[in-house]
Amino acid sequence: MLILMEPSATLEQIQAVLTVLEAAGIRGYLQESPVSKSILAPHASQALKADRIEPMGGVDRVVPITSPFKLASADGAPGRSVVEVRGVPVGGPGLAVMAGPCGVESREQLFTVARYVAESGVKLLRAGAFKPRTSPYAFQGMGSEALRLLEQARAEFDLGIVTEATEVETFEEVERTADLIQVGARNMQNFALLKRAGRSERPVLLKRGPAATLEEWLFAAEYVMSEGNRNVILCERGIRTWSLHARNTLDVSVIPAAKLLTHLPVIADPSHATGRRDLVIPCARAAVAAGADGLIVETHCSPDQALSDGPQALLPSDFFQMLEQVRGIREVLAAGGPGLI
Ligand code: PEP
Ligand code: MN
Repeated sequence: MLILMEPSATLEQIQAVLTVLEAAGIRGYLQESPVSKSILAPHASQALKADRIEPMGGVDRVVPITSPFKLASADGAPGRSVVEVRGVPVGGPGLAVMAGPCGVESREQLFTVARYVAESGVKLLRAGAFKPRTSPYAFQGMGSEALRLLEQARAEFDLGIVTEATEVETFEEVERTADLIQVGARNMQNFALLKRAGRSERPVLLKRGPAATLEEWLFAAEYVMSEGNRNVILCERGIRTWSLHARNTLDVSVIPAAKLLTHLPVIADPSHATGRRDLVIPCARAAVAAGADGLIVETHCSPDQALSDGPQALLPSDFFQMLEQVRGIREVLAAGGPGLI
């Protein structure tokens, strides 16, 4: 159930409600914004009747949540959530862009890319230190050394760092460096990793698994959130289909579909969705037009020499072009568009 409190509800009144929930064995999650206060109590209706809570001081009303994912559900929050990543709002009126190479390969490579990413006005740098690769013989990432380089890049270019945690064992190390921790597509149902991410103070970027339904993806978000971390950003990165012209198929329709079911921000990754540089910009445009709150995109100063995902990396000039185009689309959407003629 969602317990909507009066805006004037006092801390004591909130505490009293939480105590009643606790006595019934239910965990309550306080949600506060400048204009509203509410307590989310997953599965509370099974143990408590709304009329036990409704007469309590400071309570406005109790709303049942029918969705199976309680914390991620659109009816579990008063509005759309905005997740802040090092001061950058994801899910607000602006389009949040994260960009950088697939992996950190050297100081020179990282700094060259970080420099033009920063010059473009983008505030978040993506790059993997620990890489989940299909082949055990492929480049696995520079690990701890890459994390040090990412910290240096943050200091040098004033960029927030988005990087992936691939396992529970190295999570803490990644967490110390990352401003946004990526949980990759292959790990979307690694429940131990999801729970560890849920105990983190850092926001989490949760990629959709290549074969996951929308419901499975939202349950994965629920795993993170039910451990206490409410700052989850969903990312559509393409799913496995019979369309063999591209690495994956960008599921454009899941973007608005997810936004109907959840209050969490939804972004898109046109790089892994296509695997082909020449398809990245059109798919980025499609995702933004479909309502994505942001994009995460791979770009490299010399894609031919990239140690991973070179064929899908945008050249610097493509990257600037993409930004210009998606900015235009976002402006049209914000303005309501010129209408049909
Ligand atoms: C990546 O972002 O480089 C990556 C491996 O992504 P995904 O988990 O979506 O394949
Ligand atoms: Mn990649």
